[in-house]
Amino acid sequence: MPGTTRLPVSVRQGFDNVRRRSSGRLDASALLNIELLKNLIFLLFCLRWTRRAYWKLKGRGLVGTLVELYNEARRIIYGWFLRMPGVRTQVRQQVDEALGKLQTKLVPASANRYLTLPKEGWTEEAVRKELEELANMDHVRWEDGYVSGAVYHGESDLIALQTEAYGKFTVANPIHPDVFPGVRKMEAEVVAMVLNLFNAPPGAAGVTTAGGTESILMACLSARQKGLVERGITEPEMILPETAHTAFRKAGDYFKIKIHLVSCPGPSYQVDIRRVSRLINRNTILLVGSAPNFPHGIIDDISALSKLAVKHRIPLHVDCCLGSFMAPLLEKAGFPTAPFDFRLKGVTSISCDTHKYGFAPKGNSTVLYRTADLRAYQYFVDPSWSGGVYASPGLAGSRPGALIAACWASLVRVGEQGYVDACKTIVGAAKQFVAFVRASPACDAELEVMGNPLVSVVALRARPRSGISVYDVADAMSARGWHLNALQNPPAVHVAFTMPVARAWERLAADLEACVEAEREKGARAQGRGRRRRRHRRRRQDQQEDGRHGGAVRRGGEPAQQERRGRHGEGVLGFVVQGLMMGLAFFFFFFFFINTG
Ligand SMILES: *Cc1c(COP(=O)(O)O)cnc(C)c1O
Repeated sequence: MPGTTRLPVSVRQGFDNVRRRSSGRLDASALLNIELLKNLIFLLFCLRWTRRAYWKLKGRGLVGTLVELYNEARRIIYGWFLRMPGVRTQVRQQVDEALGKLQTKLVPASANRYLTLPKEGWTEEAVRKELEELANMDHVRWEDGYVSGAVYHGESDLIALQTEAYGKFTVANPIHPDVFPGVRKMEAEVVAMVLNLFNAPPGAAGVTTAGGTESILMACLSARQKGLVERGITEPEMILPETAHTAFRKAGDYFKIKIHLVSCPGPSYQVDIRRVSRLINRNTILLVGSAPNFPHGIIDDISALSKLAVKHRIPLHVDCCLGSFMAPLLEKAGFPTAPFDFRLKGVTSISCDTHKYGFAPKGNSTVLYRTADLRAYQYFVDPSWSGGVYASPGLAGSRPGALIAACWASLVRVGEQGYVDACKTIVGAAKQFVAFVRASPACDAELEVMGNPLVSVVALRARPRSGISVYDVADAMSARGWHLNALQNPPAVHVAFTMPVARAWERLAADLEACVEAEREKGARAQGRGRRRRRHRRRRQDQQEDGRHGGAVRRGGEPAQQERRGRHGEGVLGFVVQGLMMGLAFFFFFFFFINTG
């Protein structure tokens, strides 16, 4: 054994000294101990990886694990491929081209650009004139309801009041609560009002933030710190519905929390609870549900998630950023709802955007916690800084007190009845739109409303047998001035109803029907051409079946779909990439386990 170890010389000499000083019998036992130690460490190492492999197999199943490994390997190899010398320049070219197009679309060429400070300040008059021009630049008409989401209220009276509130507190900064006591009071009241809306129990707490993303980041940070402090979790993981907002993935990235995505299959498009359950392990610091999610406007089964959270004693965050003041008031507005707030025992934190359906100006959101202890986990305190003892509740240091004032003013101006009425208008319009899509023969034949949207967002996807592409419909809607949100995985579009959209819903529905009809006709014409070309090699019976099942329209959509697929990899290049990926996937199998378990 001596001589075969690869210990550093210094350490070996240390052992030699011990050996020299001790008798022969002791010598053997000392060596034995080192071997034992080595074996123990190796055993622990193996145990650790066995445990990880077990969690992975339990969480995803054998096939799921293999698919995940393959996808990961593909992603990495594709990244390498794109960075290869010849390919890189091509990619660069295409990116530059796309950027150029974006630029011409977003930056009008004629506008004056001021790239250095003016030597002398402008007159107030000149500033006003320029501001007026900037405000009136050619834009998509949100005022007439053409934009999904984006502006949630937009009526001039409320905007004027918000501006006034802002003006009174322009210099205020809540980091100095003694200097701006009014802002501190308003902030506390905003939090209290939102807590009340979500039926928070006594002892609950919250903070205001700069937006939904910050609220979510903070909730994740709090859960991570809780896991670290209370359970010693150093390799935190959280489990997200695939449809949960990207802010959670951002939190994973920023705070080094491993993310498990769980599918949200139709027809409900809610997160698959059984899969969530299988992915829970000792490192899980947070479960997440949306009420509702951004892509499809669907409220996950929060009751079931809550049960899991209670059973495994894991925090559960409910993202109600989008639901904000609509979701909690569904019942009062007379609409069906589903439980999602603090009345469910497992819910430990909720994010709610006052700058969405709270109608406050942008830069306002809240994150609520079941206990003040949970809130404290997001705090940052540094007693040793030479600038003095420093403490701040969230990401920001200095914050705009003016925005808090404008938020507070919006909340108390609109009031509960105002929000209930808004809910009736907005959710009511969404429901009428859904009813229209289902009743319209053209829309119903081609499009499916995804799941059962209870709040303000309605997502549409092409039916499995439809021949039209939902993206083509969205493009046709764009040509008519509508700005809908395109979604992916699966391809779909959604409309987020707001006050302006709600007023325009009938126009929206009529235009949608017209666009779908136009796409159908296009499909049918393309099919007609295809049929003439192919007639000689097709059997008559085949044709008859197509006619009966609307196959004509179905095939008409094929070229568009192939065009989309073609973008990912074409001809020889695509073949080489695929080959490379397949070949190296196996190689990566091993490394994936080592690196990410
Ligand atoms: C808007 C939204 C958020 C937060 O987005 P911000 O743009 O940061 O305010 C989070 N979750 C959902 C579901 C949202 O719709």
